[in-house]
Formats: sequence, C-alpha cells, structure tokens
Amino acid sequence: MARKNSSGTLIFDGRTHATLAGEVSEAAKILIQGGLVAFPTETVYGLGAAALDPHAVKQIFHAKGRPMDNPLIIHIAKASQMQTLAQNIPSAAWTLAAHFWPGPLTLVLRKQAHVPAATTGGLDSVAIRVPAHPAALALLQAAAIPVAAPSANLSGRPSPTTAAHVLHDLAGRIDAVLDGGPCDVGVESTVLDIRDGKPIVLRPGAVTPAQIRAVLQRDCSVATWLQDSGDKPPSPGLKYLHYAPQAPLYLLKGAPERQLSTLEQLQQQFQAQGKRVGLILSAESATHQKAAELVVLGHRNQPAVLAAHLYDALRYFDEREIDVIIAEGYSTEGMGLALMNRLEKAAGPRVIDVG
Ligand code: AMP
Ligand code: MG
Repeated sequence: MARKNSSGTLIFDGRTHATLAGEVSEAAKILIQGGLVAFPTETVYGLGAAALDPHAVKQIFHAKGRPMDNPLIIHIAKASQMQTLAQNIPSAAWTLAAHFWPGPLTLVLRKQAHVPAATTGGLDSVAIRVPAHPAALALLQAAAIPVAAPSANLSGRPSPTTAAHVLHDLAGRIDAVLDGGPCDVGVESTVLDIRDGKPIVLRPGAVTPAQIRAVLQRDCSVATWLQDSGDKPPSPGLKYLHYAPQAPLYLLKGAPERQLSTLEQLQQQFQAQGKRVGLILSAESATHQKAAELVVLGHRNQPAVLAAHLYDALRYFDEREIDVIIAEGYSTEGMGLALMNRLEKAAGPRVIDVG
C-alpha cells in the first residue's frame, strides 16, 4: 500500500512485481482524474499528467515553476498511439520507433489540432516517446491515456534520478510518486526533430547520432545554438538554464593530464580563499586525489556509467553545501556527447579548455 510523505504526497512502491499491479492502478487513477504523478523512466523521473487535459497539464508547470513556453514530452505505451497525436508522420519516424522504442528517444512531429497548446508550449509540433522502464509502461497501460511528463524536478534544478530526488524538490506539490528505484540512463532522452523525415538532434541523449544514421541510412545532424545569439532556439527548452547545481561548477576540457594539473591549481586557489571545493572525477583521475569532497562517476571509457551518476553527484554537493565544484571533462564519442552537453549546461560560462 502507498505511504504518505509528511507533506501529503503519496509514495507508491513500483520496485517489485508483487506490488506493481495494485500500486500502479492507484497511481493511474490519479492521472485519469487530472492529478500529478511522478514516475520512473529509464532516463530520469518524469512528472506526469493527462496530456490532453489542459487543466491537468497546467498543474505540471505550476508544481515545477516551469516557464509556460517550455513544451512537454508526451509518453505513450506503444508506438501505434503516435498517430493519435501527430499528423503527416514520415516513414523515418516509424522506422526509428520500431528500432528504439521502448527507449530513450523522443520524436518531434507535427501535432494534431486536438493536442492542447498548453502541452506543446504553444508550438504546432509535439514531442512523443515510449519509455522503457517497466513501471512507466505499466502506468501508461493502466491509465490508457497519453501522459505529458517533463523531468520531475523544480525548474532549473538537476533532473531527478531517484524517488528521493523527486520528493526533495516536489513533496507537497504533487499528488504521488511511483518509486521504481534509481534510473539506468540518468540523463534525459535524445530529442530528435523528424518532422520532414530529416533527422536533427535537438538534445543529445543515450540514442546517439551514429545510431540514428545507421538505422535510417542517412545523415543525422546535431542542432547547434548559441545562448545570447539572438537566434530562436530549435527547442524552447534550450534557452533555459538547466541541470544547475547551487554551487558554481567549473568544467575542464582537453587532454586528461593537462586537465589534472589545471584542476590542482584551481583547487588550491579556491581552498586558499577558504572555499569548500567538490570534485567530480573519473576513477582514473581520482586515484591522484586526496580531497575530502569527491564524487567518482565511473571509468573514463564508460560514458554511460559516468552519465548515470552525474545528477546524483550535483545533488550530493548541493546537500553538502559545497562552495565550488570542479568537474573533469570527457570525450564526446557516443554517450559522451550527452554527458558533456549536461556538464556544459551545469557549467554555463565556466568552461576551461586546457587544449
Ligand atoms: P524535460 O523532459 O524536462 O527535459 O523537457 C522536455 C524538453 O523536450 C523540453 O525542454 C524541450 O526542449 C523538448 N521538447 C518538447 N517538445 C518539443 C517540441 N515540440 N519541439 C522541440 N522540443 C521539444
Ligand atoms: Mg527538465
């Protein structure tokens, strides 16, 4: 049975098959009635509401403090439901859905008229995905409605990868959370514009441009957009500061050995100013470190593991009230592209390229 957090938010256990069915049908009822339920996906926890009910969707923006023009991703239980939300769907979208769903790929398509503007941030496009987490799929099947869900964090905070992260930000602001344990991928889905059949990555994630190229047998570009350029961002979410820890984060880039010597200089400089420094490092670099405040993400050649632990590291340093964070940078090969994208977002202007 569900427990109640002291703030009134219900906590459903979505971790074991024995409890899943009962807990999920209770959570689904809340969604059908227009309430807010946070649920686990393989990427990060999502904050769900009935996607076609503008009133329910507006509650998401209210609970998160999210700007109204930042569109939501609609989660569905199976690919065939795509045609109930989108129109003029190119064959490439069906091909990608067949290969990558359920999974961490979001497709941007032309929306059908009945999809509320509140859900799409006023755009005439709609973002859709089938998540792979068993608890998410069970919830979507039980609710039998499309569910709009952005990440279940307060706007501007790192995305949540555990139910505890969700409750930290949103307890008392949402009806329930379905606890499915920690998320596997740990960073948000790849967002791909496929409206014209020509794939453009708007946000990198676990599904890489190389994988999309291989499946479609055509080029896949990655949208570049510079903050403050005056250009309209290809995806509205890009213009908002994301994934930011409370302490300023310095991100190093370049050859690992040079990164380490710059890191030591920076660390000494901040410590001389009386600051508490937190380091986010690979296992390889951590062996040289004797710093008290250290999070090891994983091995340098395993970007998926590094990415899975990033948001937890940022939240850990927030709780420890660290004054400044220094993070090592990695290759942008494969999943490294998504990892470096999130680290750069967290760093803002504080990126130091050591060459
Ligand atoms: P979140 O799940 O919190 O990362 O938020 C969803 C993100 O998906 C938004 O910030 C947008 O960047 C992106 N997105 C959602 N709908 C669209 C759309 N119709 N066109 C482009 N990007 C979208
Ligand atoms: Mg988000």
